[in-house]
Amino acid sequence: MIGRVSTVWPVAALEGFAAELRRLGDGRNARVRAAAAHHVHQLRLIPWMGRAELEIPLPQCGTSASFYDLSAIEFTTEPVDCDLCLAQAELGDLLLEAGAAQGVLFELP
Ligand SMILES: [Zn+2]
Repeated sequence: MIGRVSTVWPVAALEGFAAELRRLGDGRNARVRAAAAHHVHQLRLIPWMGRAELEIPLPQCGTSASFYDLSAIEFTTEPVDCDLCLAQAELGDLLLEAGAAQGVLFELP
């Protein structure tokens, strides 16, 4: 029989898993075992499979070797030593400072 197969993602079943990853990554950095260089990356929450309810902590710099193999992520309290993560954090700080210094552009009525 030829027909359209509808795929129902078991999002609800994965919410607990995503929450556990957020708990494990809270306040921590991470190494990615599969990555060639074993740098320590800063984490940020990224919607897994594009779903906001499935936010999980992944490397800030986009090191994505672990995106489909989440077991490759090793959470650590070691300091970040990934140059890209550090540069992005510095840029973020500069943008925050610039935003704070800019003040109000116009007053709403
Ligand atoms: Zn990184």
